[in-house]
This record gives sequence, C-alpha cells and structure tokens, in this order.
Amino acid sequence: LTRMFNQNNITVPTLLIHRKICSGNISMMQQKADRSGVHLIPHFKTHQSAEVGSWFRDSGTTAITVSSLSMASFFAEHGWNDITIAFPVNLREMNTINRLASTIRLRVFILSVDVAEKLAGNLENPAGFYIETDTGYHRSGVEYDDYSLIDAILDRTSSTGKLQFAGFHTHDGNTYDTTGIDEVLNIHTATVEKLAGLRDRYRSRFPDLRISIGDTPGCTLADDLSRLDEIRPGNYVFYDVMQTVIGSCGFDRIGVALAAPVVARNKE
Ligand code: PLP
Repeated sequence: LTRMFNQNNITVPTLLIHRKICSGNISMMQQKADRSGVHLIPHFKTHQSAEVGSWFRDSGTTAITVSSLSMASFFAEHGWNDITIAFPVNLREMNTINRLASTIRLRVFILSVDVAEKLAGNLENPAGFYIETDTGYHRSGVEYDDYSLIDAILDRTSSTGKLQFAGFHTHDGNTYDTTGIDEVLNIHTATVEKLAGLRDRYRSRFPDLRISIGDTPGCTLADDLSRLDEIRPGNYVFYDVMQTVIGSCGFDRIGVALAAPVVARNKE
C-alpha cells in the first residue's frame, strides 16, 4: 500500500487510507449481509472518522455501532441517528445518555440488574438495550447460559416503558486467537449456536428480539450468516496484516498503512 503513495510527500508519520480498497471492503460485507438476510450495523470504532463513515452511506448503511458515548455524540453530530453503544453502560454518563436518547435512536449494553434498574429509573426518553453475552471470549458479558441473571435483567426492565429489549449481542473476539480458517469457523459456528439457543428460549416473550454478533474474522470467513439477525464487524473496513495471518483476507484487501520516515537507526 505504501508503494501506491508518493513517499517523498511523507514528512512525518502519516496514516495512509486507500479509498477504493476500503469502499470495496465495505460493499463486500454489505453484499454478504444482504445475501444472508441479516442487518449489517458496522462498528465505527475502527476508523472513528466522519469521512470514512460517509463511505458507508453509499452501501446503504443507516445504523452504526460505536464503543463510547463520545463516539456516539461525534457521529450523531455528523448525521447518524441510529447508534448502538457496544460497551457496558456507564451510569456516570447518565446526562449524556439522556441527551443522546432525546435526539437519536439509541441502544446500549446492559450486563447487570443493578445497571438495568438505575438506567430504567433515570432515562427520560426511550432507549433500546442488548444483553451482552459471553460465549467464550471472556472479556465481558453475561455468561450465555446464566438464565437466572438474564431473566432478572429482563424482569426488571420489562415493567418500564423506557427500556426496550433489542436482543443478545456477543463479540466472539476469541477468533483473533487463531491462526487458521477452520479454527475461526469452529468458534463462529459454536457462537451462533449459543445465540440461536438464547433466541429460541426468549422468542415467545420477545418476538422481535435479535441475535447479533460482531467480529471481522468470523463475519468474513463464514459463507452463510443467515442464522443471525445482525452483524457488527468493524475492522473489515481496513483489514490489516493480523487479519491476513488469521486468514480473513489477502494483502490486496488491506486499505490502511502507517508510513513513517526513518530518522535514525540503531545498528544493534
Ligand atoms: N462488537 C463488539 C462488542 C466489539 O467489541 C467489537 C470489537 O471489539 C466488534 C463488535 C467489532 O469486531 P471487529 O473489531 O472484529 O470487527
């Protein structure tokens, strides 16, 4: 990628982004989502750029995912009005949550009864929420089979008109600990199975609930995503060398690089 740019123009460390490659990546994932009949709600934390975000509009993106309220505020200012914050709710940011929920369609992540209760009690406008589940990555989330905790969160929130249950999300980031396509696909299949089990269990009570997954390796390598309702990958906009090691893509799909002038060499 660096060879495609005139290196003589690079005077300081510079982020290079190749528009055509990125747009190709954006439309490739959109086409796959369309073929599978799932909603693609791309994660914008990867680029955090209004301009790169605008490229997604060409593929029909209307709803996005971010990982903080400040990112949500930034993209709301740039015209995005359907935003999920894929990060556990921070009640200390209640004022910002209320401000955003009054202007855009906001969805948040809830992982505990305590937060569910306090959020429900302090929301001034309706917001949707996902229960983030842990299906094997062990970063965050309610254990996918901890039904008593899931039931308790749903019981506490269903009595309030303000918090609407949207579904179950998981980021199966354990696909990043792999070095091969089969391993990624095994993790992906097991994750979808767990989420589908949750949907079966709660669908009679919440007919519109969605199961949602987000990781670039799994969403890229699985041919058919149709057992899911939503996908939320983000890294695929650029891909990177790590994704080539995993097997998600070849070098021709990498749309980003950092070029830095070498100013000194330590021979040792
Ligand atoms: N969803 C959640 C909750 C995430 O934390 C992430 C990334 O960390 C994603 C989706 C996007 O996955 P990726 O970065 O593999 O594209």
